[in-house]
Amino acid sequence: MDCIICNSKMNAKSDWAYQCSNCNFWRSTLEPGAGRGIEGLEELRRSNFKILSDKFEELTSLSGKSCLEVGCAEGWFLDEAKARGAECIGIEPSEVSKLSQAAGHDVKVGFFPDILDQGRQFDIIIFNDVFEHLPDPVDAIKQCENYLNEDGYLILNLPNSGGLFFKISATLAKFGASSIFNRLWQKGFPSPHLTYFNERNLDAFIAKYTKLQKCKNFPLPALHTQGLKERIKTSHQGLKGQILYLGIRMGLPIIQACPSDIIVSIFQKHSGK
Ligand SMILES: [Zn+2]
Repeated sequence: MDCIICNSKMNAKSDWAYQCSNCNFWRSTLEPGAGRGIEGLEELRRSNFKILSDKFEELTSLSGKSCLEVGCAEGWFLDEAKARGAECIGIEPSEVSKLSQAAGHDVKVGFFPDILDQGRQFDIIIFNDVFEHLPDPVDAIKQCENYLNEDGYLILNLPNSGGLFFKISATLAKFGASSIFNRLWQKGFPSPHLTYFNERNLDAFIAKYTKLQKCKNFPLPALHTQGLKERIKTSHQGLKGQILYLGIRMGLPIIQACPSDIIVSIFQKHSGK
């Protein structure tokens, strides 16, 4: 397997995880699928969508912008963007689309970009914890460019392979303790991660396949004390879960000072003027 970013050789790190020997881009051979992710994340996600929207609005206001969210799930980002005056459309292939529709959002059930009318363009296209689930990221990123207006923005909110938890988990997995590593990839979940970028190789990926220009990037907190217990419970029950919870609570100040496991990168379509 060759790297889709720099064409270097991808080294097998497990039966299903491969890392580029040159740019550190990761790929998995896990079975793609659509479905709900991990429970216990509503507080964290909603609070991160506020931070994300504030940071985006340093570039331009959301008000009056046409905004497409690919993989809108429960519609929590749509709630935030709509409250700030954006005209939003969501795409969601899974059953969870019913929740965002019930919340009053315009949500199309299907896959990007097939479900959209051809020639349609948006001021903003955003992927929140979705891009890493796509089986063909190269085609997806080219389609993003096609579906953006001139001067439109692409927002990628992604897990970061340069993050603290990813690095620790990859090291532990090397020594045979792979449960956290598997969990970060959502191995065994309906929709596991198929790719894992860091800030640098994401920029290189975008530059290779599109003419989009980088505007800014910033980290988002990967942990929030609210909902943490529920989140841990989904993978670690009983005493093991309680110890893990206490460990993370106590280590939170240190964790928050390290590179985050969530990054947001914003790119803009070339105006061509
Ligand atoms: Zn590479």
